[in-house]
Amino acid sequence: MQNIRKIVTPLLLSLFITALCIGCNLGKRSQSSSNLTQGNDSKQEELSPFSADSTYNFVAHQVSFGPRVANSAPHKACGDWLVEKLTSYGAEVFEQKAVVDNKKGSQIPIRNIIASFNKENSNRILLIAHWDTRPIADNDPFPSLQKEPILGADDGASGVAVLLEIARLMKATNSTAPIDILLADAEDMGESNNEESWCLGSTYWSKNPHIKDYKADFGILLDMVGAKGACFMWEYFSKTYAPGILSEVWKTAIELGHGKYFVNADGAALTDDHVPIIKNLGIPTIDIVNFDTKRENGFGEHWHTHSDNLEIIDKEVLLAVGSTVWKVISD
Ligand SMILES: [Zn+2]
Repeated sequence: MQNIRKIVTPLLLSLFITALCIGCNLGKRSQSSSNLTQGNDSKQEELSPFSADSTYNFVAHQVSFGPRVANSAPHKACGDWLVEKLTSYGAEVFEQKAVVDNKKGSQIPIRNIIASFNKENSNRILLIAHWDTRPIADNDPFPSLQKEPILGADDGASGVAVLLEIARLMKATNSTAPIDILLADAEDMGESNNEESWCLGSTYWSKNPHIKDYKADFGILLDMVGAKGACFMWEYFSKTYAPGILSEVWKTAIELGHGKYFVNADGAALTDDHVPIIKNLGIPTIDIVNFDTKRENGFGEHWHTHSDNLEIIDKEVLLAVGSTVWKVISD
């Protein structure tokens, strides 16, 4: 993922507008407000079945495989585990395997994992996270370590963990929510100034969805949703192409008492997995992603460094994001 605020062009925007078909039926969804007040986290925890401990354990388990660089042995082992977990929660799991051009001169195998619940309902909700981790630590303060792969506790594992917890709750609560979980591969192998080298898995899926003519009412991408001190602001493409779901998610978060993390203000414009989904499938999709206003690139200090390990993970942040998404898809 990279911040492209400086290179967004009118041409790019017009391409997206052409591709868009916003069919979001948010108006049908409940707008009832909760009587919870900001900061009342203990009461919120009692009411939401979303478990921060369970989610944290899902992060830790992914990290225990080591770096999950696309097409490596730990990546395969972690992928097998993800398929097993999602299947155990009652999802219908589809594995999409393909070989794609990495836009850096090589062909690489990818493995997207799609888990569907309540397929008989055609009003789909798409939830996305990338499950691969970055093969290099190009932002690490120690040059000698910059060629080593990162553990990606936040960048990769956190979003996947929240979606695993949602899958667990789908079974535990016998939920009728019509969700598709897309665990996208090869998001994080890109290089700066090479737009097309990022988001390889989601780009492939958006051009070759697992179901012909796949549509969803809206999509929610989770990327870097577990770090201490996280801040979630309105990412540019989310605000432009999915304003309805963006405002519903931020309103829900604030009603649940998570206004400390979900801030009503403009964030960055990011090359992330939601962009090919908006562009190629016309599904209005938002990106819930940590944005650090104090840093020039907008990413946390641990981003693409070896500090992206379990120590950076905060259960309260996982809970803020997970309980919000759970409420939005359950209403
Ligand atoms: Zn990354």
